Amino acid sequence: MYNIAVLGAGIIGVSTAINIQKQIPSARVKIISEKFGQETTSWGAGGLFRPTAKFIRGIPEETIRRWARMGWDFYSSLAVSDQAKESGMQIVSGYILTQTKVENPTYKDCVYSFHEVSRKSAEEMGFGHYKYVYLVTTVIAIVKDYLPWLFKRFKENGGETEQRRIDDLNELVGVYDLVVNCTGLGSRTLFGDTSIFPVRGQLLRVRAPWIKHFIYTEEDAYLIPNGDLLVVGGCRQENNFNLNIETSDREGILERCYKICPALKGAVIDHEWTGLRPTRFPIRIEKEVLQLKRGRLMVVHNYGHGANGISMSWGTSLDAAELVKDALLSAKL
Ligand SMILES: Cc1cc2nc3c(=O)[nH]c(=O)nc-3n(C[C@H](O)[C@H](O)[C@H](O)COP(=O)(O)OP(=O)(O)OC[C@H]3O[C@@H](n4cnc5c(N)ncnc54)[C@H](O)[C@@H]3O)c2cc1C
Repeated sequence: MYNIAVLGAGIIGVSTAINIQKQIPSARVKIISEKFGQETTSWGAGGLFRPTAKFIRGIPEETIRRWARMGWDFYSSLAVSDQAKESGMQIVSGYILTQTKVENPTYKDCVYSFHEVSRKSAEEMGFGHYKYVYLVTTVIAIVKDYLPWLFKRFKENGGETEQRRIDDLNELVGVYDLVVNCTGLGSRTLFGDTSIFPVRGQLLRVRAPWIKHFIYTEEDAYLIPNGDLLVVGGCRQENNFNLNIETSDREGILERCYKICPALKGAVIDHEWTGLRPTRFPIRIEKEVLQLKRGRLMVVHNYGHGANGISMSWGTSLDAAELVKDALLSAKL
């Protein structure tokens, strides 16, 4: 029986842990993490399935499309199942507003529908100053439901958890046959990877039950229905580690969002949130054998998903779990 530790309890850690359980049913899998649940970056994300190749540099397009497809098959099957409520997967329609033509986006072959909106309709909806408006029907993951749902599956399969910060990888040598690194931004210090950096985002969750659709622009203004609440965002600030809520960011977000959706006025703020998108070009999914003071440590990495971590979590985790299986089999030979 293999002993495997997955480091990190965000969306990437738990998705990878479940896929390892599926691919190696005899393995003992433990998630070790400093933070769980609402303390993770994953918890607060908007969760819209709209993987954007622009934010995933250094990966072949066919791989990005394959990850998107694998994720879509899983999320969309949940959204139409009797697990939809519990898993937080919901079908949602909305508009993408842009000044440049969107020819063949990564998500086009996945989502339920993708159509260009006529000029007349775009103008009637107040989107006339955008050259192109697309109507898209996709899914959102309400992460505050989806993350606990995944943890429940993980525990039902015999998975264990431990709340602990790892500062020295030597602690894991001889205890685990393999360690999976899903620590996101934590890889900077734990694995010395300075190529991962934060892209700070701030958003609001408001009560606006009269707005049922999403609106997405390329100018840091978006609205995403999120269960009983509506996510209103956002911003993208590279290399900014600040986790405080900034008044100036809130004012900027609201000003931009009122412009694309005047109907937002009157919405009551439920809460605000900031998060750091763990960004790396390319996303790192690979095997490595580390020679540490206490001995060898087999590691599989899965981190650096940036703005696409929710959309890409399932697809990348399937590949990472496959690497875990390969690494263990080749070590046995
Ligand atoms: C404002 C905002 C909006 C977003 N909207 C979307 C969206 O609409 N769609 C989408 O697909 N994505 C979105 N994202 C991106 C998404 O949130 C991230 O890509 C994703 O959450 C990354 O998941 P993760 O598991 O890698 O990281 P995290 O959720 O940060 O988890 C990392 C885990 O590692 C643990 N850890 C770190 N270091 C250590 C250590 N030394 N020892 C032990 N444990 C450690 C942490 O405690 C944590 O549990 C958004 C992000 C932000 C900030």
